[in-house]
Amino acid sequence: MKIMPNRMDRGFYQYQEEFEEKALKVLRSGWYVLGEEVSAFEEEFAAYTGAKFCVGLASGLDALWLAFRALNIGLGDEVIVQANTYIASVMGITINGALPVFVEPDEYYQIDAAKIEEKITDRTKAVLVVHLYGQAADMKPVVDLCRKYDLKLIEDCAQSHGACYDGKMTGTFGDIGCFSFYPSKNLGAFGDGGAIVTDNEQIAADIKVLRNYGSEKRYYNKIVGTNSRLDELQAGLLRVRLSHMDEITKEKQAIAARYLRELHNPKIELPKKREQAGHVYHQFVIRCKERDELQAYLNEKEIGTIIHYPIPPHLAEAYRYLGFLKGAFPITEQLAEEVLSIPMYNGMTEEEQDFVIRALNEF
Ligand SMILES: *Cc1c(COP(=O)(O)O)cnc(C)c1O
Repeated sequence: MKIMPNRMDRGFYQYQEEFEEKALKVLRSGWYVLGEEVSAFEEEFAAYTGAKFCVGLASGLDALWLAFRALNIGLGDEVIVQANTYIASVMGITINGALPVFVEPDEYYQIDAAKIEEKITDRTKAVLVVHLYGQAADMKPVVDLCRKYDLKLIEDCAQSHGACYDGKMTGTFGDIGCFSFYPSKNLGAFGDGGAIVTDNEQIAADIKVLRNYGSEKRYYNKIVGTNSRLDELQAGLLRVRLSHMDEITKEKQAIAARYLRELHNPKIELPKKREQAGHVYHQFVIRCKERDELQAYLNEKEIGTIIHYPIPPHLAEAYRYLGFLKGAFPITEQLAEEVLSIPMYNGMTEEEQDFVIRALNEF
């Protein structure tokens, strides 16, 4: 049995008829950019998260950098972010010329809230929380700190669609929540897509202007913006998926529950969940001291795995200019050597789950 780390085709076939019907409808409509589907999706996704406004964008990275742009955070400003994140979180900060200030993660792989305060300087403008792998970060202390120091709070929810903390959706704790709809995400499009959610009407309006060349009215450009519009086709397909989001999330949580129940190998550390935090298992990330051997062993059995992420942003070639050397963030660096994401996707059969569980227990 060959098992891939992710199978996006399975998620398509689960709702094939609805996707195909919607795609045809959009194709035949003659309207392909910023139309009814985008507006409807924005309304529905805002309602899903509990935020007042949503603005559809072309990608998760755009959501991040446009969020900082809308908050006027750029050159000379510092933004606190966890060190063990996908590099897009950091690029969202640096594209605007701001400086990322890294904080080590806690035992749940989320930003260690107890280590934020010591990093605050008079240049700190914001905290970017990443709800990594689908688990909500420890929001209570983060929100309190942002209030105390008057910092903006932005959330990177590219992996946390539908994950709550104390019953409140991720993306709604601060000023702006940033989402990606890259196909592999829990709410995935069939191409690139992204969005921001916010309760602030002005921010939503500003980002709408930014995404469309800085114009509110066609050919009247108030500011220098960009082209970051969500396609009608993607918005329509996202609406189909969003209407099934509870099932999609529950299915992944059920696979995770099985893994947590049935995996028992002393060499493998299973992911932990904070009590107040929801987890939608965008990834099921295990830890192993012999990670590379484990990955090779699984590979031999045709079980595909991915490392999220092998090189922490502070050690990426792109960020050499920040001047960090190996050892700067030891917890993050150790995670990069030990984490492994095992197969986890909608439409994963029980036989496939059995096969993965058996192989891991026999390692
Ligand atoms: C996927 C991802 C992004 C970027 O989203 P894109 O749509 O690929 O630009 C940002 N942050 C995190 C944590 C992600 O996983």
